[in-house]
Amino acid sequence: MITKFSSALLLITLMVGCIDSKKNGTHSKIRQTVDSIQLVDTHEHLIPEKMRLSTTTDFFHLFKDYIRNDLLSSGMGKDIEQYILNAENPLDSRWTKFAPYWQKTRNTTYARNIMLAAKDLFEVEDINENTYRLLNQKMLESNKPGWYNYVLKEKAGIEVALLDPLAYGYPQDSTIQIQKEFFVRVKRFSDFISIDKDRIRKIEQNTNSVLNELDDLLNVLDIEIEKVAKNHEIVALKSGHAYSRAIRYEDVTHAEAENVFNKMINSPQQIEFRDETKLQDFIMLHLMRKAEYYNLPFQIHTGILAGTSHQNNISNTNAIHLSNLFPKFPQLKFIIFHGSYPYMAELGVLAKTHPNVYIDMSWMYVISPEASRSALKEWLLTVPSNKIMAFGGDYGQTVEATYAHAVMARRIVTEVLIEMVDKEYLNEQDAIYLAKRILRENALEIYNLEKKEGYYARGE
Ligand SMILES: [Zn+2]
Repeated sequence: MITKFSSALLLITLMVGCIDSKKNGTHSKIRQTVDSIQLVDTHEHLIPEKMRLSTTTDFFHLFKDYIRNDLLSSGMGKDIEQYILNAENPLDSRWTKFAPYWQKTRNTTYARNIMLAAKDLFEVEDINENTYRLLNQKMLESNKPGWYNYVLKEKAGIEVALLDPLAYGYPQDSTIQIQKEFFVRVKRFSDFISIDKDRIRKIEQNTNSVLNELDDLLNVLDIEIEKVAKNHEIVALKSGHAYSRAIRYEDVTHAEAENVFNKMINSPQQIEFRDETKLQDFIMLHLMRKAEYYNLPFQIHTGILAGTSHQNNISNTNAIHLSNLFPKFPQLKFIIFHGSYPYMAELGVLAKTHPNVYIDMSWMYVISPEASRSALKEWLLTVPSNKIMAFGGDYGQTVEATYAHAVMARRIVTEVLIEMVDKEYLNEQDAIYLAKRILRENALEIYNLEKKEGYYARGE
């Protein structure tokens, strides 16, 4: 007999089931959308495939990028690092030296990233004493033409990546051959913005010019920027100044800058760091004015520094130091890299309040997926969605790590959007719209990328 009570219970069960299946449908739609997006990867340093083919890509090749820093941080000495990265040493003895430090670092996401690559690309479930020989063999076998296409396009679903050709082993700037099927380029003006007495000479050599006074330097810089503006394969400028100094740039008059320049030429021994930064500030502002004029977005490294034992204080890298520049160059797109990790809250406020400040999440998921998850959620709650770019692999030697990073990015974006839908902050359409925006369309728009004859370049 069906009592009133049991029929009410049945009704509730049916309703809950109905809500659950609707929920599941939405979840899988969001997941499928995110997984099928052809990514625009806003930041890589990947070496050309040709260069990779000429190196020994054994097991330890997988440990040449970020994971190195965690291994060193765990206490591995530079001597051991050199030993294990030298392919001429016997594999087993390299493993023996490496294993204790691997055990100490395998909890970090830098390590998990490599393990994910090993699992998905080589079907090696874990990296341990029973698997390293097999993984070594599979890595060696992978070193064939077409590997980049397989990993970046077929597996990672990356349609195009913005390449900062800075990784170890890159040829001189003028001879860089970019693989157009994968990359468009960004350009650094490091010798100019980090100007000191040695760099003045270097610029003279590289540009075949004589720099007697400040205006000579500015003229050369202007010519170089104009070349970039005309070269549509270059889509943005990039600064890595945060590695060497505070990223606060004050107004400096031409006369003050000229004073420092003259001192650099005539009595370099009297130059102090304070003087150098003054001239650098002047040049940086000049460069930004030009970038604004030519409509070239400016990528700026902020936050965490790659490597270990830095001289520079981490607080010098907080994006907040750039605050005075945003109103000064209202048409310049400031692309703030790495979510300014660990200063994500500050960046959120900057991007919320300045129309020309954009958030770039390159490198972030492998630093910390949890920090990325909470930052992305916070930014989606506070910052207009056209200003967030949610993926950049940021690897140099290991295309495999870029693949695994893309998987992690998709996973976190999916989870964040699903959570926001479940909490009824977003509906399904909102979530799908946002996924496409932050993983692809924003980058295409911000960098003005257009496909011509099969390759991407900066549009007119
Ligand atoms: Zn980078």
